[in-house]
Amino acid sequence: MVYFSPDGRPLPTPTPITAPYFDGLRNRRLMLQRCPRHGYFFYPRGRCPHCLGDDWEWGELSGRGTVYSFTVDRAGHDPALAGRIPYVVALVDLDEGPRLVGNVVDCDVDAVAVGMAVEAAYEDVGDATLLGFRPAS
Ligand SMILES: [Zn+2]
Repeated sequence: MVYFSPDGRPLPTPTPITAPYFDGLRNRRLMLQRCPRHGYFFYPRGRCPHCLGDDWEWGELSGRGTVYSFTVDRAGHDPALAGRIPYVVALVDLDEGPRLVGNVVDCDVDAVAVGMAVEAAYEDVGDATLLGFRPAS
């Protein structure tokens, strides 16, 4: 079942594997799984993507990173997001290693650049909290 925010955006449905990630976001903490041999990995899954080990643990990351790449949606391709244009979708390399995708918020879209330092930004939407990024303070 897919749940939608009041503005029409699809919201995550946590599973037993993903619930600690989404619970962390709700508490303004970025939690990812960490393999004792290979470091943090993403997205939440049952086994390490490198060694297939299942002895990973959840760990808290700083939420700080740099923009690896990004695009600006100025057309509103998704009707649920049309009211938010223009907005940035970025790939962010976290300081601890994983690369995540998220919106870059709290700045002009034309200010976003590859290599820009960012930090986690949390948006409460309905019962969910979504991860985005803002320019690092
Ligand atoms: Zn591993």
